[in-house]
Amino acid sequence: MPELPEVEAVVRTLRPLVQGRKIRCVHVLHPIATKPQDPAQVARQAQGRRIRIVDRQGKYVLLVLDRGLLTMHFRLDGQLLWFSNGQELRERANQGENGVHVDVALELDKGVLGFADRRHFGHLHLWKSVDDCPGLNALGIDALSRDFTPHCFAALLSASKRPLKDFLLDQSRVAGIGNIYSCESLWQARLDPRRRANTLKPREARRLHKAIVSVLARALECCLHPAPNFRDPEWWFEGLERFLRAYGREGRSCRRCGEPIRRMAQGGRSTYWCRRCQEWAHQRIRTDRVNTPATKKPELQKKPDFERSLARLEEVVRRLESPQLSLDDAMKLFEEGVALSRECQKQLEEAEGRVEILLKRADGKLAAEPFDPERETES
Ligand SMILES: [Zn+2]
Ligand SMILES: [Zn+2]
Repeated sequence: MPELPEVEAVVRTLRPLVQGRKIRCVHVLHPIATKPQDPAQVARQAQGRRIRIVDRQGKYVLLVLDRGLLTMHFRLDGQLLWFSNGQELRERANQGENGVHVDVALELDKGVLGFADRRHFGHLHLWKSVDDCPGLNALGIDALSRDFTPHCFAALLSASKRPLKDFLLDQSRVAGIGNIYSCESLWQARLDPRRRANTLKPREARRLHKAIVSVLARALECCLHPAPNFRDPEWWFEGLERFLRAYGREGRSCRRCGEPIRRMAQGGRSTYWCRRCQEWAHQRIRTDRVNTPATKKPELQKKPDFERSLARLEEVVRRLESPQLSLDDAMKLFEEGVALSRECQKQLEEAEGRVEILLKRADGKLAAEPFDPERETES
């Protein structure tokens, strides 16, 4: 099933072929493809129009004409075909066993563009304007567009109580992400597909945004090399499975932790995920252990202050000089000494950072933020 990267690859390949071309004639060979629109009317209104822009919104391909626009949606198996001319179309289209299935053909001033879907789920429609197409109006922010920012994504997440997987599939929030890339993005961001969207912390929302952007970019790269071949009706995108980490990998080991990838039903679709890397309950236990100082680890012990670290470091150096020390003890002390020295160095640098910010503030030029070294290392 084509998702956003596949459709984007189709649009990029189609653009140089048809943009600026004139539609000489429209042949609706299987009227089911334009349903519920009247095929004769679609043909009449598109005939003689020029294709100004080839574009994409979500999984829709848009041919913006000098008057009106054509939309194509591939659903499960829809595809585009290219014929040199009307004669080749007539010779090959729907001609028995060896013929090529074509539902609608746009005969251009150079070449013929065919739209086909053997299962007839896909469709081609004609609209007066974008506003008239309910499908386009219902779409949320396009996941490959510049408008898809971490900020707006976080706002969308916080407004939804749905499980993350369902949220990502909802085209009215973010358009273009289907079953494959929602599984992949959640795996990459190490997030539980069942978790409610509005429970994500800002850091997790940023991580998911980053995962979606990078998963789609990699998929698009793959879809463009090699580019779609509209001349070959049997052509389909290849090599995508090479970069999939979760989708379709049930029972095979997770590339991150080695645990078998699991499959579960979610909203009538299959979700592939790694329980060990992604399950929220596990992650909560792990972070709670680190974050609760109330139990037995006092904050001071976890993060020793500079004086204590330095005093301990001096003690370690003194003991290392003792002639009675065994090699084993010496190694342990040495390792502790190295760790302490690093910790002291880090604390000194942080202190320097704070001083620098204070100085800038005193200078009155910069309204400084509190110095937070954690923020720099977070991805
Ligand atoms: Zn057909
Ligand atoms: Zn894993």
